[in-house]
Amino acid sequence: MKQILAIIFVSVLFSNCGYAQPDRTKKSTMDNKDTTGKIVYSTTDTSKVELKEDDWKKILTPEQYYIARQKGTERPWTSKFEKHDEVGLYRCVACGNALFRSNTKFDSGCGWPSFYEPVSKTSIIYTPDNTLGMTRTEVQCGRCKAHLGHVFDDGPPPTGLRYCINGVILEFEKKKS
Ligand SMILES: [Zn+2]
Repeated sequence: MKQILAIIFVSVLFSNCGYAQPDRTKKSTMDNKDTTGKIVYSTTDTSKVELKEDDWKKILTPEQYYIARQKGTERPWTSKFEKHDEVGLYRCVACGNALFRSNTKFDSGCGWPSFYEPVSKTSIIYTPDNTLGMTRTEVQCGRCKAHLGHVFDDGPPPTGLRYCINGVILEFEKKKS
């Protein structure tokens, strides 16, 4: 009997532990001020965000931090957005900047969410990337400089471009009907 009680106690303890864990899938959008005192995450403010790496670490989940600030790459075919076809807007999960519209998304078969055109010329920053023995163009968020992925010139018309983006750094805003 004692043993059974002990098992129940331990399992209750562990299940409670599970609930007590902070939700690392959800970033906190409160008190995320940059060095000038501005709130970092905003869907209306388009001014540039300057934040110390330590502060990014506090705001972003470890996975988001790895992609956005350490230029990591998520494993292919792991993003929920890879086969996502709802109508709406894809934003930068770190700062809220509008990046891509769903009508420019296409199935590239490369394993990452792919788009042929960003929302605007200023929504993305382009940087030459010569790492890993390849000549590529890195794309970063135009507002907070989060690493998003790369752009290639084998995309569909009308642009002929393929923006190959890590889904981890995207969030989706469904169009209100
Ligand atoms: Zn951003």
